[in-house]
Amino acid sequence: MAVSIEQARRDRPTPDVAPAPTSGKGMSLKFEIQPAANPTSEKDRAARLADPGFGRVFTDHMAIVRYDQAKGWHGARVEARANFPLDPALAVLHYAQEIFEGLKAYKRDDGGVNLFRPDANAKRFQSSADRMAMAPLPEAVFIEAVEQLVRIDRAWIPGGEGSLYLRPFMIASEVFLGVKPSAEYIFAVIASPVGSYFKGGPAPVSIWVSENYTRAAIGGTGAVKCGGNYAASLRAQAEAIEHGCDQVVFLDAVERRYVEELGGMNVFFVFDDGSLLTPPLGTILPGITRDSIITLAKDAGMPVREEAYTIEQWRADAASGKLKEAFACGTAAVISPIGKVCSASGDFLISGGAAGPVAMGMRKKLVDIQYGRAPDPHDWIKKVF
Ligand SMILES: *Cc1c(COP(=O)(O)O)cnc(C)c1O
Repeated sequence: MAVSIEQARRDRPTPDVAPAPTSGKGMSLKFEIQPAANPTSEKDRAARLADPGFGRVFTDHMAIVRYDQAKGWHGARVEARANFPLDPALAVLHYAQEIFEGLKAYKRDDGGVNLFRPDANAKRFQSSADRMAMAPLPEAVFIEAVEQLVRIDRAWIPGGEGSLYLRPFMIASEVFLGVKPSAEYIFAVIASPVGSYFKGGPAPVSIWVSENYTRAAIGGTGAVKCGGNYAASLRAQAEAIEHGCDQVVFLDAVERRYVEELGGMNVFFVFDDGSLLTPPLGTILPGITRDSIITLAKDAGMPVREEAYTIEQWRADAASGKLKEAFACGTAAVISPIGKVCSASGDFLISGGAAGPVAMGMRKKLVDIQYGRAPDPHDWIKKVF
């Protein structure tokens, strides 16, 4: 039976060549804007914005761009938020070829709207795509999709300490059960209004040291924002909850001693000499909040070390008083002080279990820049309005 070259290529079980980059960094696409025919009424929107929580309320629209090998990135649209038709053989459903991002739009006091470092999210999305053998999305298309969605759903951005959480993501959309990089992708952005993450200031979290599970190994996907990392972290997070803790902290996969990060946040340590320490990049997710904190700390003359730190040292430094604070950081919660560390070999407190001044001061600095209340010396803010 004759098999076309195209068929033979598609059916080859070994990994195909990675999709050729079809566009450079500067390339953008024209988005076709199709406003929702039945948007949420003002009254219903106000009701949902009153107490949105996190990740359950969504805006009326989504941005979507498609990729296939013949056309490259195409079909850029902003349209009513709707279900995706999912063929049961869609590649992502079987082999988890999926990546995502998370960033926020903040309403300024003058009514304008800020994005915080969207170019950094666009770059990280490209390196995630590269590691997952997915088609790289031009940075300009990523940023344009985010901005277009913020523009059309502007009315959904909460005021005060709330924000609009933006979730860009990409899925492998080829209908094929062979194990290879998908030949088709869907990139989309959805948006979810979120309230102040913590009512009345961030309460210190307790964390559980995972000794049964690891998050990432050298050469693996620890530095990639892919859904698979989260799927693999859920059992460890459940173990943390079983032990009465809020979050899990992972150790390195080789020696099982070095602190890596929480399930979805990076971690910092504050010492009595005023210096900061955070685990080095490699197997951890290169957080944009982490990077911003390093920059702001250095601006303020605080020494920052990106160095490995063991759980034994953490315990010893907490006991001796050398360690003053520890905190976790990420876009969603900004900064969460760590009040208590629990493990199979016993618990210990940090800063007496209370939120420390460095964590709180850093949090305020960052949030003030994000909301446009403080100068932006590093050009992190992109105004949408
Ligand atoms: C997204 C993420 C972070 C935080 O990154 P930010 O860019 O600061 O939001 C940290 N760890 C993991 C595993 C993440 O997925």
